[in-house]
Amino acid sequence: MVEQEDRQLQKNRRKRVERLKKIILITAFATILTPVIVSICLGFLLYGANARLRKIEAEKADMQSQVDELSLKIDNLQESITFYEEKQKSEQAETETVLENENSGQDIMTGDGIKRVYLTFDDGPSRYTDQILDILAEYHVKATFFVVGDTSEEAKALYKRIISEGHSIGIHSYSHKYHEIYASEEAFFEDFYLLSDYIFDVTGVRPDICRLPGGSSNTVSQIDMAEIVNQLNAQGVTCYDWNISGGDADGHGLSAEQIALNVISGVDTFQTSIVLLHDGKDKAQTVDALRMILDELTGRQELEIKPITEETPIILHITH
Ligand SMILES: [Zn+2]
Repeated sequence: MVEQEDRQLQKNRRKRVERLKKIILITAFATILTPVIVSICLGFLLYGANARLRKIEAEKADMQSQVDELSLKIDNLQESITFYEEKQKSEQAETETVLENENSGQDIMTGDGIKRVYLTFDDGPSRYTDQILDILAEYHVKATFFVVGDTSEEAKALYKRIISEGHSIGIHSYSHKYHEIYASEEAFFEDFYLLSDYIFDVTGVRPDICRLPGGSSNTVSQIDMAEIVNQLNAQGVTCYDWNISGGDADGHGLSAEQIALNVISGVDTFQTSIVLLHDGKDKAQTVDALRMILDELTGRQELEIKPITEETPIILHITH
């Protein structure tokens, strides 16, 4: 009986030990496994988050490049607007000053009674320069071109053609931006010699005549124009204004007939006529007017049409 109880006791103890072992094993297993599972889960979460982050970063980079592209476009647009505003200001200024200076009334007696006419074209080269040169060649007439700076191949060919066909070439302005050129004496001469050097490089000829943008009596200039004229004279450059304006400056909108009439009636009035015309991209009427002018004037007796040279009498709106 005691023996039986004893066995039963032993059996119970073994069972308890077995249970305890199981508990220890499960606890140990759980202690190791839980962090592993948690780590794996965290790993997945991290991977997912990383992938999302990369996607967001890619989208951000894409948006940034779109923003960059847009701001570049805005910059370009702003530049174009500034360019056109500047151009408009210059053209407006030229129109105003030309209006003020039209037909200044100055004349110079020729002594021999022969009328002398000097046709001058400002602001070229342009898309019409070839046509103007063709018409002048057809009538065997030489004229004067007061040019601006243009580095295109077409313009280079036109500077050369003007000279090779016996016309005079003079300085008008490199940039033709009145507010910049007339801001200071330094700015004026910088622009002047930029064009003078450029024409010399392209053609081998250094111009010794000039037409001041807007004329010597323009109202835009911040500097003393008489001083500019004197300094140019000292450097061997002679300035010419005009006593007849064709009236073809921007904003007038005159027909070819009206331009021709302005010129012809002016020539009828004066002994010496320095005629202001324009060689510009929207000056088709001037081309047509030129033919009418030459049709009328080349047939006349005791009238010469000549290019401006150093012997040409000076017509200048200001005294210096
Ligand atoms: Zn001009």
